[in-house]
Amino acid sequence: MRIFCIANQKGGVGKTTTTVNLAAGLAELKHRVLLVDLDPQGNATMGSGIDKRALETTVYDVLIGGASIAEARQPSPHSGYHVLGANRELAGAEVELVSLDQRERRLKNALAAVQAEYDFVLIDCPPSLSLLTLNGLCSAHGVIVPMQCEYFALEGLSDLVNTIKQVHANLNRELEIIGLLRVMFDPRITLQQQVSEQLKAHFGDKVFNTVIPRNVRLAEAPSFGQPGVTFDPASRGAVAFIEFAHEMAARMGRPAGATPAPV
Ligand code: ADP
Ligand code: MG
Repeated sequence: MRIFCIANQKGGVGKTTTTVNLAAGLAELKHRVLLVDLDPQGNATMGSGIDKRALETTVYDVLIGGASIAEARQPSPHSGYHVLGANRELAGAEVELVSLDQRERRLKNALAAVQAEYDFVLIDCPPSLSLLTLNGLCSAHGVIVPMQCEYFALEGLSDLVNTIKQVHANLNRELEIIGLLRVMFDPRITLQQQVSEQLKAHFGDKVFNTVIPRNVRLAEAPSFGQPGVTFDPASRGAVAFIEFAHEMAARMGRPAGATPAPV
């Protein structure tokens, strides 16, 4: 079981879209996938076709109440993966976690019990470097960073990269940046091409080959409770995410020893 956080402390950069579509893409490739929604907004839950308001047991109960993942997870109705859902209740966890034992390892400990049941766990992080995100980073083998190729993109990355270095040094020696994913990309915009080139110059093969285009079908899909990958499989966005699922699966199949050095 390989565990990945989809993280970027900025909001609206494409984390949730990446998480649900990568989950659906990997499921399409016959991998067993669990999506963990760590954002109190519950967008990945809703975008997977699960009504967050109707959930009785969520990731909150797993983090705080000692519920098991087996008790709290749901199958996504259209997309072939499982979801550990979230809703507004999770916002309270931030404060409640502080006084708990092993506060940054609660998710990691819970995931250990489903180790044999999944090939991939994808964790949709909230737009902050909070105790919730820390639970994600402490659980994970790697981080996938979706980003738009905008003027301040590189600058915004340094906080995240520093946090990942800190977690790697102090809490989770396995953690590495798997890669930066260029999302909402529009090749007609010269600036985006320039930032994309800068990214490749700075981060080399940490930049995924796959590029996710700006595509309205990806933005429409959540209101139908589905990832774009299953909502409109022929759309350019869906095709790109299937390609990304292939790229991720291939990178993870690499032989031991070929693993790049941690950040
Ligand atoms: P985050 O989880 O980082 O806040 P989201 O995945 O929710 O970001 O994306 C923010 C907004 O951008 C959403 O309305 C989403 O539908 C839209 N969006 C994300 N990726 C794309 C894309 N490739 N093309 C078009 N719209 C996108
Ligand atoms: Mg989100």
